[in-house]
This record gives sequence, structure tokens and C-alpha cells, in this order.
Amino acid sequence: MDVAHIVESGFETLFLATLSQAPLYVPCEPSGAAMATRAMKVLILGGGQAGLTVAVELSKRHTEKDPLSITLVDPKDYFEIRWASVRAMVNERVREDFTLLYSDVLAPRGIKHFQSKVKVLNLLSATLESGETLEFDICLIAVGAGHPMAGVDPEATELSRRKKELVDAGARYLSGDLVIVGGGLLGAEVAGEFSNSDHRITIVQNTDELVPEMRSNARRRTKQVLRRQGVQVITGHKAQEIADGIYQVGDSILDCDVGIRCTGYYSRSKFTYLGDLPQECRDKNGWIQTNQYFQVEGCAGRIYAFGDCCTTGPKLAQTVFSNYKAVVHNMLKSLDWHTNPIHFKSYSAPLPLCILTLGPNAGVADLPFGVFERVIPAYKNRTLFISYAKDFVEMKEETKWPKAAVTLAAVGAVAAVRIATSD
Ligand SMILES: Cc1cc2nc3c(=O)[nH]c(=O)nc-3n(C[C@H](O)[C@H](O)[C@H](O)COP(=O)(O)OP(=O)(O)OC[C@H]3O[C@@H](n4cnc5c(N)ncnc54)[C@H](O)[C@@H]3O)c2cc1C
Repeated sequence: MDVAHIVESGFETLFLATLSQAPLYVPCEPSGAAMATRAMKVLILGGGQAGLTVAVELSKRHTEKDPLSITLVDPKDYFEIRWASVRAMVNERVREDFTLLYSDVLAPRGIKHFQSKVKVLNLLSATLESGETLEFDICLIAVGAGHPMAGVDPEATELSRRKKELVDAGARYLSGDLVIVGGGLLGAEVAGEFSNSDHRITIVQNTDELVPEMRSNARRRTKQVLRRQGVQVITGHKAQEIADGIYQVGDSILDCDVGIRCTGYYSRSKFTYLGDLPQECRDKNGWIQTNQYFQVEGCAGRIYAFGDCCTTGPKLAQTVFSNYKAVVHNMLKSLDWHTNPIHFKSYSAPLPLCILTLGPNAGVADLPFGVFERVIPAYKNRTLFISYAKDFVEMKEETKWPKAAVTLAAVGAVAAVRIATSD
């Protein structure tokens, strides 16, 4: 790079900073002296909704002039839509539909897949459990978050074994009385899903209301729906397991055949592979600390993190759908910073809506203009938005617009009827 070029890009950077007042982040120079002539190496750790969506979007940006060499590391041989995993335990059609083999998605787009986990990550390379060391110019961490409920987090690394794992989990949860510890969105969803068994279902929540993630009217309606479905709802108490299948809840003792923990997410990065990165890259709970551009703190713009594993945005698929293009843009800008002004795109919050299914025929939708129990939950129940999520990773974006339009029209029609019939 010549001096004039450096001065010029420095001025551009300063000019943009003054003009837009947007905070600029100056990454370090990508590794490798021959960076202008070789394919930039992009390494993506984790092929869930976040990692796979970004990998596919990046593959669309690969050109002869700006070649990209994309590698994705994930211990599994398949991608799954995690929000459908509870229904997949009991519904064969969903189980057959909610996954994709990486071999069908990645190879046709020239993306390499290593079926392994990262053991050590530093600013230049990742060493995998399988022994390989992969160098990169830019890296995205998208390893998601863990959940204590058995069956929700895949243990199996092969798709055929994963399907069996789901069938076994479903059979177990249908085999006797259940105590569900934790009445957030997942606990409520599980209670609703298994409420049509012949057994007693109890859900215990330590705060005064179920689903604190929703607004108060939606919380009340969720409790009503679950009670209508025969679920015993206990709020304001902690459930403590004092022996196998026996819980102390306040002054009472609850016994059950199966206890299910739905007590929230935990970080998969807490004690693991980030040891070689600067301390500030994770917070005290192990979540990967990112700024508004999804850049990992202390990693000089060379490492990004996205999805459930990072601190930017709520841990929702909606966060991925609203921001994956910004992440791709920013990663490419980091690679290209020597020739272009750096102007990163900031995080944008997803729409404030939450549609909770409570079994195949019930649910509660908390939307900005009201709480709904019929059409909108029924719409989600029919499809679970599986094909919508798959479209992002199969590059069928053209099909998204008609679907989105239909959804918006349906929501608009319901809202109009509601407003017209309200007092
Ligand atoms: C039951 C349930 C219901 C949900 N409902 C909704 C909903 O209604 N609406 C909504 O918006 N969101 C919902 N979510 C959240 C949504 O599914 C997540 O936000 C989304 O899946 C996050 O994507 P991700 O790629 O960050 O993580 P994940 O999809 O979890 O993917 C992480 C990937 O990283 C891989 N991995 C793990 N460790 C490593 C490692 N060390 N090295 C390499 N790879 C690794 C895993 O194998 C996995 O493929 C729900 C989640 C669950 C579990």
C-alpha cells in the first residue's frame, strides 16, 4: 500500500467520522502479505441459524475479483431449526422437515465443512479437536447457547441419531407425570406441547407470573390457556429437587415421573476455547462480548460473533434475520478496509413480537397492537415457520417476500377486525 493511499483512506475515515458521527472501529490489517491476490479466508465456527445464514450470504458475495474461501466448523453433519425441536419430539412430519444436511447446503456453494469443534482460538487461527489448524483473515463465532432441557440441545452429531434422540425424549416426556421447572417461554411451550398426554403436568415459576419475556396481558392469557389445557400452574415459588423426581415447592412436596429443567440459557464459551483471546472478549457469564457491529471486544475487528452466543441483541432467531446482512457487510468491510472507507452497519433491533405456541392447537401472540389467541398462533402452529427459516440457508430469498406479504396481510386483517369490533 503506498503512502498516498494510506493518507487518502485516513482522510476518508476521518471525514466519515465527522460527517456521520457514527462511531468507527478500525480493525487491524488482515493477515498475509499477498492479501490482494489470494482468496480471503473466512472461518465460521458454528453452523446454526446465525453461522449458516452468514456463510450462505457470504458465498453469494464470492466473485473472481474478490474471492472468498469460506470454511464452516460444526460438530454435527446437519443444521436444525431449534425452535421446532420441542414439536419435533412428538410430531413426525416436523421431525422430518426441520433439518438440512450440511452436505446438501455447503458443498454446492463451495463452502468447506469440518465436522469438529474448536479447541483453541487466537487472533490468527483456530485449532480443532480433530487436530487441524485453520488460519483465517476473518472469523465469526456463532456457537449458539446451551439449554439444560434434554432433547432441546442436540447431543447427536449425525442426523439419523438426532432423530432417534428426539423420539426417545418425546416418549419419555409422554410416559408419566411431569414437573417443568421454569415458566419462561420454553417452559410454557413444553407444558402446552405435552398437555394432551394422560398425565399430570405441573409448571413451576419462581416469579409471580409465567413468561416474563412477554407483556402482562400476554402473561395472563398464557396462564389461562395452560390452565384450560389442564396444566397445574404454580408461580412465586422455586422448585428444588430433593430426590429423584421429588421437588420441594414452598411448603409442599411434588412428585413426578419426569422432571424437566427449563431454566434458561447458558454460555457454551464459559470455560472453553477462548483462552487465547484477550480477557475482554467475554463477560462474567461467559457470553462473547460484542459491540454494535458484532465485533468481539479486544479482537481488533478480526473476530466477529453473532446469534445466541454474543451480547448484542436478544437471543432470538429474529435477531439473526434482522442483522445477518449487517454482519456480512461488516465482515467484508473489515477485509476491505485498506481500499474503502470503513463504514460499519450497526445492530438493528428485531420487531417486538412474540408468538408462543402452547401445543398444536393453541398459543398466544404478543404483538405491538394487541394479544391474540387464534389466527396468529394457529398460523405459526401450522408451519412453525420452518420453510421461512430454511429459505435463508437455502438461498431462496425470492420466496420470502410473498410469504412475508401474506403474513403481514393476515396480521393487518386481524388487527383491523379487532379494532372494528372493540368497544
Ligand atoms: C425451544 C426453542 C424455541 C425457540 N423459539 C423461538 C421463537 O419462537 N422465536 C425466535 O425468534 N427464536 C426462538 N428460539 C431461539 C432461536 O432458535 C435461536 O435464537 C437461534 O437458533 C440462534 O441461532 P444460533 O446460530 O446463534 O445458535 P444455534 O442455532 O444453537 O446454533 C449453534 C451451532 O453451533 C454449533 N456449535 C456448538 N459448539 C460449537 C463449537 N465449539 N464449535 C463449533 N460449532 C459449535 C452447534 O452444533 C450449532 O449448530 C428458540 C430456541 C429454542 C431452543
